[in-house]
Amino acid sequence: MEQENGMASERREMVSQLMHYGIVNSRVLGAFLTVERHRFVDGGSRMFAYSDSALPIGYGQTISQPYTVAYMMELLVDRCPAGKVLEIGTGSGYQAAILNTLGYRVFTIERVAGLYELAASRFKKMGIPVQSRLGDGTLGWPEEAPFDAIIVTAAAPSEPRTLMEQLADGGVLILPLGDIASQQMTVIRRKGERFEHERFDHFAFVPLIGREGWRDPDEAS
Ligand code: SAM
Repeated sequence: MEQENGMASERREMVSQLMHYGIVNSRVLGAFLTVERHRFVDGGSRMFAYSDSALPIGYGQTISQPYTVAYMMELLVDRCPAGKVLEIGTGSGYQAAILNTLGYRVFTIERVAGLYELAASRFKKMGIPVQSRLGDGTLGWPEEAPFDAIIVTAAAPSEPRTLMEQLADGGVLILPLGDIASQQMTVIRRKGERFEHERFDHFAFVPLIGREGWRDPDEAS
């Protein structure tokens, strides 16, 4: 049975594919070998858990493609090898579990109540020491700031100033920045009161919805 053998061979296959796509960092590859992605998707999607694709997790949201998560994690570990990380967009909880396996102290925020609850119960059941909360992640987590890194896992239309202000000096904000159809992975590093930018490949994320993101389509105008 898949849960009994932990799908280790499928995970090895996924990691080989990540290497083929250019992921080289051994810490990142090790985390992908360890975290059981099939435990973060529902029964109907389990057989596809180790394909390199985004999968539906309900509420119109997705668990990101493994390559996309690995790409962000390489940007992170190269620039911020340890410390306190805030993730915006908990979704299934998979990326938070990867961050935890990489050794970071992890805080994560989700705006959809059903997803927040499911991820929180997964963290508890699996003994993953991640702190999660429900809310608009574009406002950050001021009581826990500053963060050594902030990872945004949804598409931001512009630089979220509140998150930039919650970075420690030298800290990095990693986020897909652009329009609804396509975003450029961007790293913003805080240097005192200045911010330096690096830009990378293009991706397509679900929208970041909130006060410093896209407008909530369900909200009355
Ligand atoms: N990291 C997730 C995982 O491992 O499953 C995948 C994230 S999914 C691509 C993006 C998530 O961001 C969705 O669950 C969505 O509800 C959430 N989201 C969008 N806007 C948000 C906001 N302002 N604050 C918190 N979460 C937000």
